[in-house]
Amino acid sequence: MTSFSFEFFPPRTAHGEQALWAAIRRIECFRPDFVSVTYGAGGSSRDRTLAVSSRIAAETTLRPVAHLTAVGHSVSELRRIIGQLADAGIRDVLALRGDPPGDPTGPWTPHPQGFSYAYQLVELLRSLGDFRIGVAAFPEMHPRSASRHEDIRHFVAKCRAGADYAITQMFFRVEDYLRLRDTVAAAGCTTPLIPEIMPATDYRQIARFAQLSNATFPAKLADALYAARNDAAVSRRIGVEYATAMAQHLLAEGVPGLHYITLNTSTAALDIHRTVLAGQTATAVPAA
Ligand code: FAD
Repeated sequence: MTSFSFEFFPPRTAHGEQALWAAIRRIECFRPDFVSVTYGAGGSSRDRTLAVSSRIAAETTLRPVAHLTAVGHSVSELRRIIGQLADAGIRDVLALRGDPPGDPTGPWTPHPQGFSYAYQLVELLRSLGDFRIGVAAFPEMHPRSASRHEDIRHFVAKCRAGADYAITQMFFRVEDYLRLRDTVAAAGCTTPLIPEIMPATDYRQIARFAQLSNATFPAKLADALYAARNDAAVSRRIGVEYATAMAQHLLAEGVPGLHYITLNTSTAALDIHRTVLAGQTATAVPAA
């Protein structure tokens, strides 16, 4: 069965908190399989990620997945954080290496008593309890990988360390996902790869996406968003339609799930999801 899930980030302000909870409540009535909460770059949101994930576990019907990175943490700190997650009833963790604080493309220096790679965090989680563990996958390979071959080799090793599933980095060409899926399968790895869906609804987002994800942005989509750069409604429609077509293509390819980035507003993600649901089954599409 295909899973549907949504990603949030822990807000910094009271206003952001209100927007997040409004989005969570809207999404709750779609009964997604899980919702994930990111871990701030450089470990900056440790307490907020824990607080938001715990509140989701305690006050909603949703299943929270807490992202956790190894950045800036010793192994004993990671043990403590994992213990706090378990105490809050959170059994789902997306285990990540993370990027260096400040400049994410800068040199990676592990904590002296910490981990260098995500597979070590997967192993730690496996040793500490009955967690459902996700990991990150990169359709256009991780920018720090020496080659595609090395990238796949390390990814498969990370899955074999105990990952139950992987969620991809955002991408904008379905063929990039399919190439990753087929290469991983050819390496004998059966870990489900859930594609991340990110609607690009504003020309000004493109540079930020490139910085965040390294994903190739299709020239046609960039041109359309550029032409509509002064019309927010048209830009939004272009981005939502493009992401919807991608989601439908991916479903036709038999993906195990779709993971939508919400940016804590949920509206574009839900527009895509409603269309996808309507195409999948003719029943039970909740009203907005
Ligand atoms: P790894 O799997 O450790 O890989 C990092 C690099 O090391 C790769 O090049 C890999 O090939 C290489 N490598 C792995 N193992 C070995 C080995 N044994 N020997 C040599 N090289 C090796 N970041 C955040 O800060 N917070 C978040 O909440 C967050 N959420 C994310 C969610 C998703 C779905 C994705 C795709 C990414 C997310 N990230 C997040 C970003 C992620 O932390 C960075 O992309 C980071 O650079 C890589 O993390 P990883 O877990 O893939 O690392």
